[in-house]
Amino acid sequence: MKVLEFKIIEIPEDQMYYEKIKLDAKKIGLELDEVEFVSPIECSVKLIRERNIVYASIDASVDVQLECRRCLELFQTKISTHFDYQYRPTDDPKKLESEFVDSISTRYYMDESLNLADEVRQALILEIPVWPLCSEDCKGLCPKCGQNLNKGSCSCELDITSSDKSKKLAILGELLEEAKKKEKV
Ligand SMILES: [Zn+2]
Ligand SMILES: [Zn+2]
Repeated sequence: MKVLEFKIIEIPEDQMYYEKIKLDAKKIGLELDEVEFVSPIECSVKLIRERNIVYASIDASVDVQLECRRCLELFQTKISTHFDYQYRPTDDPKKLESEFVDSISTRYYMDESLNLADEVRQALILEIPVWPLCSEDCKGLCPKCGQNLNKGSCSCELDITSSDKSKKLAILGELLEEAKKKEKV
């Protein structure tokens, strides 16, 4: 038996089949360049069959290591997904591919067996953040010296604030000068 594949005939009718499965991400072809899968995928599979229709309720989660877009540090986070589908038999292999699926909640199976590997892989990929951040308020790197500002400030930061201050003082000074001139007029 392949991973996450279930023979229709072995799924009990009118009774919940429940299984917890741990599997390596690679086993369902889950491999991405910027993502390291640091734990096995934990899958909870609930199946109920009504004649040849299978109702599936799936939870899957995995720990990943990502690179923060702001500070470029690696960090770990858990991604998890959940889906509920009803699976109907088909003879048309095209219907197995998600791009040909015509309904939100209906999927198809062929050859008397239900294979959830593709579905779980795709659902997990969708949960991986496109713009990963180690934390919502990650301060990122100093654009001047590259210092990680989460770990402490750099001297450039001080320069920016002090020059800001002197700019503001200069503007204030000009305003005062103008006000004085107007008073004299
Ligand atoms: Zn960060
Ligand atoms: Zn700096």
